[in-house]
Amino acid sequence: MALNRDGMERKTVDLLLRDCAAIPMDQLGRVLERVDIAIDGDRIVALGQDLPYVGRQTLDGRDHVALPGLVNAHMHECLTRGLCEDRELSRWLTEICFPLDAAYTPADITAAAGMNQLEMIRSGTTTFIDIYRHPAAAAAVTEQSGLRGIFSPQVIDEPTGVGEALADTENLIQAWHGRGSGRIHIWVGLHAPYSCHPESFTQGSELAQKYGVGLHTHLAETRWEVETLQARYGMTPVQCLERWGCLTSRTLAAHCVQVQPEEIDLLQAKGVRIAHNPSSNLKLASGIAPVLQWLRQGIPVGLGTDSILSNNNLDLFEEMRLAVFLQRLTSGDGAALPAEQALWMATRGSAACLGLEQEIGSLEVGKKADVILLDLRAPHLWPRLQGSLNNLIAQVVYAAHGSDVSTTICDGKILMHNRQVLTLPEEELRHQVGSQATDLCRRAGL
Ligand SMILES: [Zn+2]
Repeated sequence: MALNRDGMERKTVDLLLRDCAAIPMDQLGRVLERVDIAIDGDRIVALGQDLPYVGRQTLDGRDHVALPGLVNAHMHECLTRGLCEDRELSRWLTEICFPLDAAYTPADITAAAGMNQLEMIRSGTTTFIDIYRHPAAAAAVTEQSGLRGIFSPQVIDEPTGVGEALADTENLIQAWHGRGSGRIHIWVGLHAPYSCHPESFTQGSELAQKYGVGLHTHLAETRWEVETLQARYGMTPVQCLERWGCLTSRTLAAHCVQVQPEEIDLLQAKGVRIAHNPSSNLKLASGIAPVLQWLRQGIPVGLGTDSILSNNNLDLFEEMRLAVFLQRLTSGDGAALPAEQALWMATRGSAACLGLEQEIGSLEVGKKADVILLDLRAPHLWPRLQGSLNNLIAQVVYAAHGSDVSTTICDGKILMHNRQVLTLPEEELRHQVGSQATDLCRRAGL
């Protein structure tokens, strides 16, 4: 306890954010003009005006807005980007992506995870799900970066040698699930119904159930996928997953662009969650996902960036804005998918997709202290209007970039302050990523 000037007793907490605006994303849908946020250990213990707390560390929040840390509901921690771009999708996959995937070593993934996690910290993402190669190497980086990460080893049966083996997933769960003070989770990851055998999906679903973890996959991403599975099995991708016992509330499906109304009904009925990836869907010419229909039917929808191969960055602010614009285009309705809903998808929606809605996704007392501060002093975020004219949510969704995030806090720990990342060695990583990526390309024969 410490005494205030007026003699009032003040409780000491680890971290106190003073005098910031806040968009808590709580059930009340409030925007707060000036509040303090008290953090003790890994939790938010109080949020309100002029809190009677003293911080062991205090951050001045004036001219900043506090938001829940953003949650990336679909990404892969790849090492290369901007390489061999602008090719037709199937050629790009077979000539570039699969040779790279096959050549990855744990050292490549260590460098890749350093770069990806640095980029996420710098753009306000505090939780992500990664579906890719050598997940133990990526998870080890998360112990250091301080982020909250779910790792789903990307199992691929066809072609051989480009993915992880389902048989290794169980060991990974036993070795890594719950590490990093509970920040690291392991899920089952199956690349897609066209690249994994039916029995892998069935076994993967059983494994997810055995350990009480989620199952992540790509689903109905392109018309090519629908045609391929129709030809191979006489079923659509969604029907395949149902047949193989994988349409459950444990399943997080990325994309779902090419789905018919009755398939959306089925996804809803089975409690499947969907990660929407607007940039990737456009860049790969996959199509525009029926997001408004998913939301109307109450399906949990989160936002993802997909990988830096198909985006090419991990900025969820861009995804929020693009998610809105795409639904405006398809619906012809200027009120479709309001800014609040886009922000909900990038926070609470994605948290629900990851089964973490009780812990993260909003700034509320008792929840994990995953908080970002956005600097409102840049001209593209002027003017800041208050009271009945409050424009903060629109500014965040339509005008802000990831680079406006000045402070990133995850699990109560400051990972970045004043744009300085405190947990990863940025300059060292830049050199490491450059040389490792060059080496990877050489090994992949590019
Ligand atoms: Zn993906």
